[in-house]
Amino acid sequence: MHSDNKGNKQTTDIFSLITKQIQQLTKGQVTCLDAKKALNRYGANTMAISRSIGGAFIVRQISADHGQAVEMANIGHIVTAANAYGTPLQVISSGQNWGYGTAMPTDDSRAHFILDLSELKRIELNEQLGIVWLQPGVTQQNLRDYLDSCNAALMVPVTGAGPSCSIVGNALERGYGITPHADHFAAVTSIQAVLADGSHYSSAIASLDLTKQNIVDMSYKWGLGPYLDGIFTQSNLGIATSMSIRLAHEPELVESFYLFCAEESDLERVFPLVQQLLRDFAGVVGSINILDSRRMLSMMVTNANGLSLCSQTDVDRLKQEYKVSQWTCIGSLYGSARVVKAVKKEIKRKLKGNTAVKRSLFISAREIAIANQFIDLLPDRVLTGPRRQLAALEKTTQIMRGIPNEVALPLAYWRNPDKPKQLQMLNPAKDNCGLLWYAPLIPATEDKIREFVDMVRTICLKFDIEPLITLTTIKHDCIDSTVPLLFN
Ligand SMILES: Cc1cc2nc3c(=O)[nH]c(=O)nc-3n(C[C@H](O)[C@H](O)[C@H](O)COP(=O)(O)OP(=O)(O)OC[C@H]3O[C@@H](n4cnc5c(N)ncnc54)[C@H](O)[C@@H]3O)c2cc1C
Repeated sequence: MHSDNKGNKQTTDIFSLITKQIQQLTKGQVTCLDAKKALNRYGANTMAISRSIGGAFIVRQISADHGQAVEMANIGHIVTAANAYGTPLQVISSGQNWGYGTAMPTDDSRAHFILDLSELKRIELNEQLGIVWLQPGVTQQNLRDYLDSCNAALMVPVTGAGPSCSIVGNALERGYGITPHADHFAAVTSIQAVLADGSHYSSAIASLDLTKQNIVDMSYKWGLGPYLDGIFTQSNLGIATSMSIRLAHEPELVESFYLFCAEESDLERVFPLVQQLLRDFAGVVGSINILDSRRMLSMMVTNANGLSLCSQTDVDRLKQEYKVSQWTCIGSLYGSARVVKAVKKEIKRKLKGNTAVKRSLFISAREIAIANQFIDLLPDRVLTGPRRQLAALEKTTQIMRGIPNEVALPLAYWRNPDKPKQLQMLNPAKDNCGLLWYAPLIPATEDKIREFVDMVRTICLKFDIEPLITLTTIKHDCIDSTVPLLFN
Protein backbone atom coordinates (compact mmCIF):
# COMPACT_ATOMS: atom_id res chain seq x y z
CA MET A 1 0.00 0.00 0.00
CA HIS A 2 1.24 3.54 -0.82
CA SER A 3 2.44 5.24 2.39
CA ASP A 4 -0.06 8.16 2.02
CA ASN A 5 -2.95 5.74 1.67
CA LYS A 6 -1.64 3.83 4.65
CA GLY A 7 -1.49 7.08 6.65
CA ASN A 8 -5.05 7.98 5.58
CA LYS A 9 -6.31 4.55 6.55
CA GLN A 10 -4.65 4.80 9.96
CA THR A 11 -6.23 8.24 10.50
CA THR A 12 -9.65 6.90 9.47
CA ASP A 13 -9.27 3.96 11.85
CA ILE A 14 -8.27 6.26 14.70
CA PHE A 15 -11.21 8.56 13.92
CA SER A 16 -13.62 5.59 14.14
CA LEU A 17 -12.11 4.40 17.42
CA ILE A 18 -12.04 7.84 19.05
CA THR A 19 -15.54 8.65 17.82
CA LYS A 20 -16.87 5.43 19.28
CA GLN A 21 -15.27 6.18 22.65
CA ILE A 22 -16.44 9.82 22.64
CA GLN A 23 -20.00 8.92 21.72
CA GLN A 24 -20.11 6.34 24.52
CA LEU A 25 -18.65 8.67 27.15
CA THR A 26 -20.69 11.73 26.15
CA LYS A 27 -23.91 9.83 25.38
CA GLY A 28 -23.87 11.16 21.83
CA GLN A 29 -23.67 14.80 22.92
CA VAL A 30 -20.73 15.64 20.65
CA THR A 31 -21.00 16.01 16.86
CA CYS A 32 -18.20 14.07 15.15
CA LEU A 33 -17.13 14.88 11.58
CA ASP A 34 -14.87 12.59 9.58
CA ALA A 35 -11.76 13.89 7.80
CA LYS A 36 -13.57 14.81 4.58
CA LYS A 37 -16.38 16.71 6.29
CA ALA A 38 -13.93 18.38 8.68
CA LEU A 39 -11.69 19.54 5.84
CA ASN A 40 -14.72 20.84 4.01
CA ARG A 41 -15.86 22.82 7.02
CA TYR A 42 -12.53 24.07 8.42
CA GLY A 43 -9.96 23.67 5.61
CA ALA A 44 -10.44 27.05 3.91
CA ASN A 45 -7.81 29.52 5.06
CA THR A 46 -6.25 32.76 3.86
CA MET A 47 -2.67 31.51 3.91
CA ALA A 48 -2.74 28.95 1.09
CA ILE A 49 -1.65 26.21 3.49
CA SER A 50 -2.92 22.66 3.68
CA ARG A 51 -2.91 20.58 6.82
CA SER A 52 -3.71 17.00 7.60
CA ILE A 53 -7.05 16.95 9.45
CA GLY A 54 -8.24 13.63 10.88
CA GLY A 55 -11.73 14.81 11.83
CA ALA A 56 -13.55 17.26 14.06
CA PHE A 57 -15.50 17.20 17.31
CA ILE A 58 -18.10 19.87 17.90
CA VAL A 59 -19.12 20.22 21.54
CA ARG A 60 -22.85 20.86 21.70
CA GLN A 61 -24.47 23.20 24.21
CA ILE A 62 -26.54 21.28 26.76
CA SER A 63 -29.66 23.13 27.81
CA ALA A 64 -30.49 20.94 30.85
CA ASP A 65 -29.76 21.97 34.47
CA HIS A 66 -26.02 21.88 35.09
CA GLY A 67 -25.56 21.87 31.31
CA GLN A 68 -22.30 23.75 31.60
CA ALA A 69 -20.82 21.09 33.90
CA VAL A 70 -21.85 18.43 31.38
CA GLU A 71 -20.17 20.38 28.56
CA MET A 72 -16.95 20.61 30.63
CA ALA A 73 -17.14 16.88 31.28
CA ASN A 74 -17.69 16.22 27.57
CA ILE A 75 -14.59 18.24 26.69
CA GLY A 76 -12.69 16.19 29.29
CA HIS A 77 -13.95 12.98 27.63
CA ILE A 78 -12.72 14.15 24.22
CA VAL A 79 -9.29 14.89 25.70
CA THR A 80 -9.20 11.46 27.35
CA ALA A 81 -10.09 9.75 24.08
CA ALA A 82 -7.54 11.80 22.10
CA ASN A 83 -4.87 10.93 24.69
CA ALA A 84 -5.73 7.24 24.45
CA TYR A 85 -4.90 7.30 20.72
CA GLY A 86 -2.09 9.88 20.90
CA THR A 87 -3.83 12.31 18.54
CA PRO A 88 -3.33 16.08 18.84
CA LEU A 89 -6.31 18.44 19.11
CA GLN A 90 -6.53 21.89 17.53
CA VAL A 91 -8.96 23.94 19.62
CA ILE A 92 -11.00 26.70 18.02
CA SER A 93 -13.57 29.12 19.38
CA SER A 94 -14.89 30.58 16.12
CA GLY A 95 -11.94 29.43 13.99
CA GLN A 96 -11.63 32.72 12.11
CA ASN A 97 -8.05 33.55 12.85
CA TRP A 98 -7.73 35.00 9.35
CA GLY A 99 -4.17 35.75 8.33
CA TYR A 100 -2.77 33.83 11.33
CA GLY A 101 -3.77 30.29 10.30
CA THR A 102 -7.60 30.52 10.33
CA ALA A 103 -8.72 27.20 11.93
CA MET A 104 -5.63 25.22 10.88
CA PRO A 105 -3.02 23.80 13.27
CA THR A 106 0.53 25.15 13.00
CA ASP A 107 2.06 21.67 12.99
CA ASP A 108 1.88 19.61 9.81
CA SER A 109 3.86 16.59 10.96
CA ARG A 110 0.73 14.57 11.79
CA ALA A 111 -3.03 14.64 11.51
CA HIS A 112 -4.86 16.90 13.97
CA PHE A 113 -8.45 16.73 15.12
CA ILE A 114 -10.34 20.01 15.40
CA LEU A 115 -12.09 20.61 18.71
CA ASP A 116 -14.79 23.17 17.90
CA LEU A 117 -16.32 25.11 20.82
CA SER A 118 -18.31 27.57 18.70
CA GLU A 119 -21.68 26.23 19.88
CA LEU A 120 -20.99 27.10 23.54
CA LYS A 121 -22.63 30.48 23.88
CA ARG A 122 -23.45 31.16 27.54
CA ILE A 123 -23.13 34.71 28.79
CA GLU A 124 -23.53 35.98 32.36
CA LEU A 125 -23.18 39.64 33.16
CA ASN A 126 -22.45 41.35 36.44
CA GLU A 127 -23.65 44.72 35.28
CA GLN A 128 -22.70 46.57 38.43
CA LEU A 129 -19.06 45.49 38.10
CA GLY A 130 -19.05 45.56 34.31
CA ILE A 131 -17.64 42.03 34.24
CA VAL A 132 -18.94 39.46 31.81
CA TRP A 133 -18.41 35.69 31.99
CA LEU A 134 -18.67 33.94 28.66
CA GLN A 135 -18.01 30.75 26.75
CA PRO A 136 -15.84 30.38 23.61
CA GLY A 137 -18.72 30.44 21.09
CA VAL A 138 -19.83 33.96 22.05
CA THR A 139 -19.09 36.26 19.14
CA GLN A 140 -18.71 40.03 19.16
CA GLN A 141 -22.26 40.35 17.79
CA ASN A 142 -23.67 37.85 20.34
CA LEU A 143 -22.21 39.93 23.15
CA ARG A 144 -23.42 43.22 21.62
CA ASP A 145 -26.96 41.82 21.30
CA TYR A 146 -26.86 40.54 24.87
CA LEU A 147 -25.64 43.87 26.30
CA ASP A 148 -28.27 45.74 24.28
CA SER A 149 -30.99 43.39 25.51
CA CYS A 150 -30.02 44.34 29.11
CA ASN A 151 -29.63 48.03 28.22
CA ALA A 152 -26.11 47.78 29.60
CA ALA A 153 -23.92 50.77 28.67
CA LEU A 154 -20.86 48.58 28.18
CA MET A 155 -18.55 48.19 25.21
CA VAL A 156 -17.76 44.98 23.35
CA PRO A 157 -13.99 44.52 22.88
CA VAL A 158 -14.40 44.67 19.11
CA THR A 159 -11.70 44.08 16.49
CA GLY A 160 -11.41 44.67 12.76
CA ALA A 161 -12.17 40.97 12.25
CA GLY A 162 -15.83 41.78 12.84
CA PRO A 163 -19.11 40.58 14.35
CA SER A 164 -18.75 36.83 13.70
CA CYS A 165 -15.47 36.38 15.62
CA SER A 166 -15.20 34.93 19.11
CA ILE A 167 -14.37 37.13 22.09
CA VAL A 168 -12.58 34.25 23.86
CA GLY A 169 -10.58 33.18 20.76
CA ASN A 170 -9.34 36.72 20.19
CA ALA A 171 -8.38 37.22 23.85
CA LEU A 172 -6.48 33.89 23.85
CA GLU A 173 -4.59 35.07 20.78
CA ARG A 174 -3.81 38.27 22.75
CA GLY A 175 -5.56 40.33 20.09
CA TYR A 176 -6.23 44.01 20.40
CA GLY A 177 -8.71 46.60 19.27
CA ILE A 178 -9.30 50.32 19.46
CA THR A 179 -11.79 50.65 22.36
CA PRO A 180 -10.46 51.83 25.77
CA HIS A 181 -9.58 48.22 26.70
CA ALA A 182 -7.40 47.89 23.62
CA ASP A 183 -5.28 45.00 24.92
CA HIS A 184 -7.86 42.24 25.05
CA PHE A 185 -5.99 39.76 27.20
CA ALA A 186 -5.18 42.49 29.73
CA ALA A 187 -8.96 42.76 30.30
CA VAL A 188 -9.35 39.01 30.99
CA THR A 189 -9.81 38.57 34.74
CA SER A 190 -10.13 34.79 35.03
CA ILE A 191 -9.94 31.66 32.88
CA GLN A 192 -11.49 28.26 33.38
CA ALA A 193 -9.93 25.43 31.37
CA VAL A 194 -9.63 21.71 30.76
CA LEU A 195 -6.03 20.51 30.95
CA ALA A 196 -4.22 17.94 28.82
CA ASP A 197 -5.02 15.13 31.31
CA GLY A 198 -8.74 15.99 31.24
CA SER A 199 -8.74 17.68 34.67
CA HIS A 200 -10.25 21.11 35.27
CA TYR A 201 -8.35 24.35 35.94
CA SER A 202 -9.39 27.57 37.60
CA SER A 203 -7.30 30.02 39.62
CA ALA A 204 -6.54 29.29 43.30
CA ILE A 205 -8.75 32.25 44.27
CA ALA A 206 -11.75 30.51 42.67
CA SER A 207 -11.67 27.73 45.26
CA LEU A 208 -11.48 30.27 48.12
CA ASP A 209 -14.18 32.52 46.70
CA LEU A 210 -17.45 31.88 48.53
CA THR A 211 -19.48 34.53 46.68
CA LYS A 212 -22.40 33.33 44.59
CA GLN A 213 -21.12 34.62 41.26
CA ASN A 214 -17.40 34.08 41.99
CA ILE A 215 -17.11 37.85 42.16
CA VAL A 216 -13.73 37.87 43.88
CA ASP A 217 -12.12 35.50 41.38
CA MET A 218 -13.67 37.34 38.45
CA SER A 219 -12.55 40.77 39.59
CA TYR A 220 -8.97 39.95 40.58
CA LYS A 221 -6.87 38.98 37.58
CA TRP A 222 -3.70 37.84 39.32
CA GLY A 223 -5.15 35.04 41.47
CA LEU A 224 -2.87 33.68 44.17
CA GLY A 225 0.78 32.70 43.83
CA PRO A 226 2.36 32.35 40.38
CA TYR A 227 0.11 33.77 37.67
CA LEU A 228 -1.02 30.84 35.53
CA ASP A 229 -3.93 32.03 33.34
CA GLY A 230 -1.43 33.47 30.85
CA ILE A 231 -0.08 30.05 29.89
CA PHE A 232 -3.32 29.35 28.01
CA THR A 233 -2.70 32.20 25.55
CA GLN A 234 -0.95 31.66 22.20
CA SER A 235 -0.07 28.18 23.40
CA ASN A 236 -2.59 25.34 22.95
CA LEU A 237 -1.53 24.22 26.48
CA GLY A 238 -5.11 23.85 27.67
CA ILE A 239 -8.68 24.22 26.50
CA ALA A 240 -10.27 27.42 27.76
CA THR A 241 -13.90 26.61 28.46
CA SER A 242 -14.88 30.07 29.70
CA MET A 243 -13.41 33.33 30.89
CA SER A 244 -14.43 36.54 32.57
CA ILE A 245 -13.64 39.89 31.01
CA ARG A 246 -13.72 43.43 32.36
CA LEU A 247 -15.72 45.49 29.87
CA ALA A 248 -15.22 49.20 29.33
CA HIS A 249 -18.18 51.40 30.25
CA GLU A 250 -19.61 53.42 27.41
CA PRO A 251 -19.03 56.98 28.57
CA GLU A 252 -21.32 59.96 28.05
CA LEU A 253 -19.33 61.00 24.99
CA VAL A 254 -17.06 59.25 22.48
CA GLU A 255 -15.43 61.58 20.01
CA SER A 256 -13.14 60.30 17.26
CA PHE A 257 -10.26 62.37 16.01
CA TYR A 258 -8.27 62.29 12.80
CA LEU A 259 -4.93 64.03 12.35
CA PHE A 260 -3.86 64.43 8.73
CA CYS A 261 -0.19 64.80 7.69
CA ALA A 262 0.69 65.74 4.10
CA GLU A 263 4.38 64.84 3.85
CA GLU A 264 6.19 61.54 4.23
CA SER A 265 8.67 63.12 6.67
CA ASP A 266 5.79 64.28 8.92
CA LEU A 267 5.76 60.79 10.42
CA GLU A 268 8.84 61.52 12.53
CA ARG A 269 7.28 64.78 13.74
CA VAL A 270 3.79 63.52 14.45
CA PHE A 271 4.92 60.46 16.39
CA PRO A 272 6.20 62.40 19.46
CA LEU A 273 2.82 64.20 19.53
CA VAL A 274 0.96 60.87 19.46
CA GLN A 275 3.16 59.65 22.32
CA GLN A 276 2.40 62.80 24.29
CA LEU A 277 -1.36 62.42 23.80
CA LEU A 278 -1.26 58.81 24.98
CA ARG A 279 0.88 59.65 27.99
CA ASP A 280 -0.75 62.91 29.08
CA PHE A 281 -4.37 61.89 28.54
CA ALA A 282 -4.25 58.20 29.47
CA GLY A 283 -7.76 57.04 30.32
CA VAL A 284 -9.36 59.59 27.98
CA VAL A 285 -7.44 58.91 24.75
CA GLY A 286 -7.78 55.28 23.57
CA SER A 287 -5.05 53.69 21.45
CA ILE A 288 -4.03 55.67 18.35
CA ASN A 289 -3.44 54.10 14.93
CA ILE A 290 -1.10 55.73 12.41
CA LEU A 291 -1.90 54.66 8.84
CA ASP A 292 -0.03 55.40 5.65
CA SER A 293 -1.86 56.53 2.52
CA ARG A 294 -1.80 53.09 0.88
CA ARG A 295 -3.43 51.49 3.91
CA MET A 296 -6.12 54.19 4.02
CA LEU A 297 -6.80 53.78 0.30
CA SER A 298 -7.05 49.99 0.58
CA MET A 299 -9.92 50.49 3.03
CA MET A 300 -11.68 53.27 1.10
CA VAL A 301 -11.37 52.26 -2.54
CA THR A 302 -13.30 49.34 -4.01
CA ASN A 303 -10.71 47.61 -6.15
CA ALA A 304 -12.94 46.54 -9.00
CA ASN A 305 -10.39 46.88 -11.82
CA GLY A 306 -7.33 45.10 -10.46
CA LEU A 307 -5.73 48.32 -9.23
CA SER A 308 -2.28 48.05 -7.71
CA LEU A 309 -1.13 50.24 -4.86
CA CYS A 310 2.44 49.28 -5.75
CA SER A 311 2.50 51.99 -8.40
CA GLN A 312 3.32 55.42 -6.95
CA THR A 313 1.51 57.12 -9.85
CA ASP A 314 -1.73 55.31 -9.02
CA VAL A 315 -1.31 56.02 -5.32
CA ASP A 316 -0.80 59.75 -6.00
CA ARG A 317 -3.87 59.87 -8.25
CA LEU A 318 -6.07 58.04 -5.73
CA LYS A 319 -4.81 60.20 -2.87
CA GLN A 320 -6.01 63.25 -4.79
CA GLU A 321 -9.32 61.67 -5.72
CA TYR A 322 -10.15 60.38 -2.22
CA LYS A 323 -8.53 63.28 -0.33
CA VAL A 324 -6.22 60.93 1.55
CA SER A 325 -3.17 62.30 3.36
CA GLN A 326 0.27 60.72 3.43
CA TRP A 327 -0.20 59.77 7.10
CA THR A 328 -3.44 59.70 9.11
CA CYS A 329 -3.60 59.27 12.89
CA ILE A 330 -6.92 57.90 14.17
CA GLY A 331 -7.91 57.90 17.82
CA SER A 332 -10.80 58.53 20.20
CA LEU A 333 -11.63 60.49 23.31
CA TYR A 334 -13.74 58.78 25.97
CA GLY A 335 -15.33 60.50 28.96
CA SER A 336 -17.99 62.83 30.23
CA ALA A 337 -18.86 65.64 27.82
CA ARG A 338 -16.93 68.12 29.98
CA VAL A 339 -13.79 65.98 30.20
CA VAL A 340 -13.80 65.28 26.45
CA LYS A 341 -14.27 68.98 25.74
CA ALA A 342 -11.36 69.91 28.01
CA VAL A 343 -9.01 67.29 26.52
CA LYS A 344 -10.01 68.26 22.99
CA LYS A 345 -9.11 71.85 23.80
CA GLU A 346 -5.71 70.73 25.11
CA ILE A 347 -5.07 68.61 22.02
CA LYS A 348 -5.96 71.49 19.73
CA ARG A 349 -3.54 73.67 21.67
CA LYS A 350 -0.79 71.09 21.14
CA LEU A 351 -1.67 70.85 17.44
CA LYS A 352 -0.95 74.56 17.04
CA GLY A 353 2.66 73.89 18.01
CA ASN A 354 3.03 70.87 15.70
CA THR A 355 3.55 71.69 12.04
CA ALA A 356 3.32 68.03 10.97
CA VAL A 357 -0.48 68.03 11.29
CA LYS A 358 -1.95 69.99 8.39
CA ARG A 359 -5.59 69.33 9.24
CA SER A 360 -7.56 67.71 12.04
CA LEU A 361 -11.10 66.49 12.49
CA PHE A 362 -12.95 65.79 15.73
CA ILE A 363 -16.34 64.15 15.28
CA SER A 364 -18.90 62.37 17.47
CA ALA A 365 -21.57 59.83 16.52
CA ARG A 366 -24.23 62.53 17.01
CA GLU A 367 -22.50 64.90 14.59
CA ILE A 368 -22.17 62.12 12.02
CA ALA A 369 -25.89 61.35 12.37
CA ILE A 370 -26.75 65.03 11.79
CA ALA A 371 -24.50 65.19 8.70
CA ASN A 372 -26.13 62.00 7.41
CA GLN A 373 -29.60 63.45 7.88
CA PHE A 374 -28.57 66.47 5.85
CA ILE A 375 -26.98 64.42 3.07
CA ASP A 376 -29.98 62.07 2.90
CA LEU A 377 -32.13 65.03 1.88
CA LEU A 378 -30.06 65.41 -1.30
CA PRO A 379 -30.48 63.34 -4.49
CA ASP A 380 -28.33 60.14 -4.56
CA ARG A 381 -26.02 61.47 -7.29
CA VAL A 382 -25.03 64.57 -5.34
CA LEU A 383 -21.98 64.60 -3.03
CA THR A 384 -21.11 60.94 -3.63
CA GLY A 385 -17.54 61.43 -2.31
CA PRO A 386 -18.56 62.98 1.05
CA ARG A 387 -21.41 60.46 1.29
CA ARG A 388 -18.90 57.60 1.02
CA GLN A 389 -16.51 59.24 3.48
CA LEU A 390 -19.32 59.81 5.96
CA ALA A 391 -20.40 56.16 5.72
CA ALA A 392 -16.80 55.06 6.44
CA LEU A 393 -16.55 57.53 9.33
CA GLU A 394 -19.79 56.25 10.80
CA LYS A 395 -18.59 52.63 10.73
CA THR A 396 -15.19 53.51 12.20
CA THR A 397 -16.83 55.49 14.99
CA GLN A 398 -19.08 52.50 15.77
CA ILE A 399 -15.99 50.32 16.21
CA MET A 400 -14.55 52.86 18.64
CA ARG A 401 -17.82 52.70 20.61
CA GLY A 402 -17.70 48.91 20.91
CA ILE A 403 -20.28 48.22 18.21
CA PRO A 404 -18.96 45.49 15.88
CA ASN A 405 -19.16 45.83 12.11
CA GLU A 406 -17.33 44.65 9.00
CA VAL A 407 -15.76 47.96 7.98
CA ALA A 408 -12.19 46.56 8.08
CA LEU A 409 -12.86 43.25 6.32
CA PRO A 410 -12.97 44.42 2.66
CA LEU A 411 -9.22 44.98 3.05
CA ALA A 412 -8.76 41.20 2.80
CA TYR A 413 -10.50 41.28 -0.61
CA TRP A 414 -8.22 43.91 -2.17
CA ARG A 415 -6.49 41.41 -4.46
CA ASN A 416 -9.41 39.03 -4.77
CA PRO A 417 -10.84 39.17 -8.31
CA ASP A 418 -14.12 37.57 -7.12
CA LYS A 419 -15.57 40.24 -4.91
CA PRO A 420 -18.65 39.23 -2.90
CA LYS A 421 -21.85 40.83 -4.19
CA GLN A 422 -22.74 42.20 -0.77
CA LEU A 423 -20.29 43.46 1.80
CA GLN A 424 -22.03 41.51 4.56
CA MET A 425 -21.31 38.26 6.40
CA LEU A 426 -17.83 38.37 4.90
CA ASN A 427 -15.54 35.38 5.37
CA PRO A 428 -12.13 36.00 3.74
CA ALA A 429 -11.10 32.33 4.10
CA LYS A 430 -14.20 30.89 2.45
CA ASP A 431 -14.07 33.63 -0.20
CA ASN A 432 -10.55 32.56 -1.14
CA CYS A 433 -8.71 35.73 -0.12
CA GLY A 434 -4.93 35.53 0.22
CA LEU A 435 -3.76 37.16 3.46
CA LEU A 436 -0.86 36.73 5.86
CA TRP A 437 -0.40 39.25 8.66
CA TYR A 438 3.11 40.53 9.32
CA ALA A 439 2.79 41.89 12.86
CA PRO A 440 6.12 42.93 14.38
CA LEU A 441 6.76 44.95 17.54
CA ILE A 442 8.76 48.10 16.83
CA PRO A 443 10.85 50.14 19.26
CA ALA A 444 8.91 53.35 19.92
CA THR A 445 11.52 55.78 18.59
CA GLU A 446 11.36 57.91 15.45
CA ASP A 447 14.52 56.46 13.86
CA LYS A 448 13.45 52.83 14.36
CA ILE A 449 9.97 53.57 13.01
CA ARG A 450 11.51 55.13 9.89
CA GLU A 451 13.85 52.15 9.48
CA PHE A 452 10.85 49.83 9.74
CA VAL A 453 8.69 51.75 7.24
CA ASP A 454 11.54 51.89 4.69
CA MET A 455 12.28 48.19 5.14
CA VAL A 456 8.62 47.15 4.67
CA ARG A 457 8.24 49.29 1.56
CA THR A 458 11.48 48.06 -0.04
CA ILE A 459 10.79 44.37 0.57
CA CYS A 460 7.07 44.41 -0.24
CA LEU A 461 7.51 46.33 -3.49
CA LYS A 462 10.34 44.00 -4.54
CA PHE A 463 7.84 41.12 -4.38
CA ASP A 464 4.94 43.10 -5.88
CA ILE A 465 3.07 43.19 -2.57
CA GLU A 466 1.38 46.41 -1.54
CA PRO A 467 3.05 47.81 1.60
CA LEU A 468 -0.06 48.72 3.62
CA ILE A 469 1.27 50.02 6.92
CA THR A 470 -0.53 50.57 10.22
CA LEU A 471 1.33 51.46 13.39
CA THR A 472 -0.80 50.74 16.45
CA THR A 473 0.35 52.55 19.55
CA ILE A 474 -0.95 50.30 22.31
CA LYS A 475 0.77 52.55 24.86
CA HIS A 476 3.06 55.54 24.39
CA ASP A 477 6.04 53.18 24.68
CA CYS A 478 4.85 50.21 22.63
CA ILE A 479 4.12 49.94 18.91
CA ASP A 480 2.72 46.93 17.17
CA SER A 481 2.53 47.21 13.41
CA THR A 482 0.12 45.20 11.29
CA VAL A 483 0.98 44.82 7.62
CA PRO A 484 -1.45 42.62 5.67
CA LEU A 485 0.48 40.69 3.00
CA LEU A 486 -2.27 40.32 0.40
CA PHE A 487 -1.97 37.93 -2.52
CA ASN A 488 -4.14 36.19 -5.08
C1 LIG B 1 -9.36 42.40 7.92
C2 LIG B 1 -8.98 41.78 9.23
C3 LIG B 1 -8.90 42.57 10.36
C4 LIG B 1 -8.52 42.01 11.59
N1 LIG B 1 -8.45 42.83 12.65
C5 LIG B 1 -8.04 42.36 13.83
C6 LIG B 1 -7.94 43.25 14.95
O1 LIG B 1 -8.29 44.43 14.87
N2 LIG B 1 -7.47 42.74 16.11
C7 LIG B 1 -7.13 41.42 16.23
O2 LIG B 1 -6.72 41.01 17.32
N3 LIG B 1 -7.22 40.56 15.20
C8 LIG B 1 -7.66 40.99 14.00
N4 LIG B 1 -7.76 40.13 12.93
C9 LIG B 1 -7.23 38.75 13.06
C10 LIG B 1 -8.22 37.62 13.47
O3 LIG B 1 -9.15 37.39 12.44
C11 LIG B 1 -8.93 37.87 14.79
O4 LIG B 1 -7.99 37.99 15.83
C12 LIG B 1 -9.95 36.79 15.18
O5 LIG B 1 -10.74 37.23 16.24
C13 LIG B 1 -9.30 35.47 15.61
O6 LIG B 1 -10.13 34.43 15.30
P1 LIG B 1 -11.20 33.76 16.30
O7 LIG B 1 -11.72 34.82 17.20
O8 LIG B 1 -12.14 33.02 15.44
O9 LIG B 1 -10.30 32.81 17.15
P2 LIG B 1 -10.02 31.22 16.92
O10 LIG B 1 -9.58 31.01 15.51
O11 LIG B 1 -11.18 30.48 17.40
O12 LIG B 1 -8.85 31.08 17.92
C14 LIG B 1 -7.59 31.59 17.68
C15 LIG B 1 -6.53 30.63 18.27
O13 LIG B 1 -6.64 30.65 19.69
C16 LIG B 1 -6.55 29.34 20.22
N5 LIG B 1 -7.85 29.01 20.84
C17 LIG B 1 -9.07 29.37 20.40
N6 LIG B 1 -10.02 28.97 21.24
C18 LIG B 1 -9.39 28.33 22.23
C19 LIG B 1 -9.85 27.72 23.43
N7 LIG B 1 -11.13 27.71 23.75
N8 LIG B 1 -8.92 27.17 24.25
C20 LIG B 1 -7.61 27.22 23.94
N9 LIG B 1 -7.11 27.79 22.83
C21 LIG B 1 -8.00 28.35 21.99
C22 LIG B 1 -6.21 28.42 19.08
O14 LIG B 1 -4.80 28.30 19.00
C23 LIG B 1 -6.73 29.17 17.86
O15 LIG B 1 -6.00 28.89 16.70
C24 LIG B 1 -8.18 40.64 11.68
C25 LIG B 1 -8.30 39.83 10.55
C26 LIG B 1 -8.70 40.39 9.34
C27 LIG B 1 -8.81 39.52 8.14
